[in-house]
Amino acid sequence: MKILAIGRNYAEHIEELKNERPSEPVVFLKPDTALLKNNSPFYYPDFSQNIHHEVELVLKISKEGKHIDPKFAHRYFEEVGIGIDFTARDLQDRCKQKGLPWEIAKGFNGSAPVGEFLPKEKLGALDNIDFHLLVDGQVKQKGNTSMMLFPFDYIISYLSQFFTLKKGDLIYTGTPAGVGPVQIGNRLEAFIGDQKLLDFEVK
Ligand code: MG
Repeated sequence: MKILAIGRNYAEHIEELKNERPSEPVVFLKPDTALLKNNSPFYYPDFSQNIHHEVELVLKISKEGKHIDPKFAHRYFEEVGIGIDFTARDLQDRCKQKGLPWEIAKGFNGSAPVGEFLPKEKLGALDNIDFHLLVDGQVKQKGNTSMMLFPFDYIISYLSQFFTLKKGDLIYTGTPAGVGPVQIGNRLEAFIGDQKLLDFEVK
């Protein structure tokens, strides 16, 4: 399986990192070794002093497809979950300054915790999903899919022009504002609506 991710998909988050607003989705990948399941702890890596949380809705691809028309994209995912796109912001900033790719800042081991998935029928309107992240019980990030620059169907269609999507692939769909550093000992809890789907510690 592969993990595809979209950057800069919520306007307020683009502003907080002083990035440019993209005219097409910003795309990167994480390897399968980035995946962290079953609420396993995240071990803070020693190559970074500034790991940030980015809470994101995650689509699980349910069948193979390429060159998918946006109007059929909804047929390619049945479930939506929530995850964290952990980012080594210090490494990413260094890569960006040099105009280099960011893979080491985004794709390292354990950088993609993902929680339980919900059938999309249970979510109501997909363009109006509330989600949020608690760190040690405090709300750090809150988002709603109505704020996305590129909605789910567009993301699937766009990615499928370049990458054949396969059953079980995951797509991280971008983070809202409020990203920030995590510390050893933090507890992260992520919710879609009022349902907690992810709960783990930083060790
Ligand atoms: Mg992200």
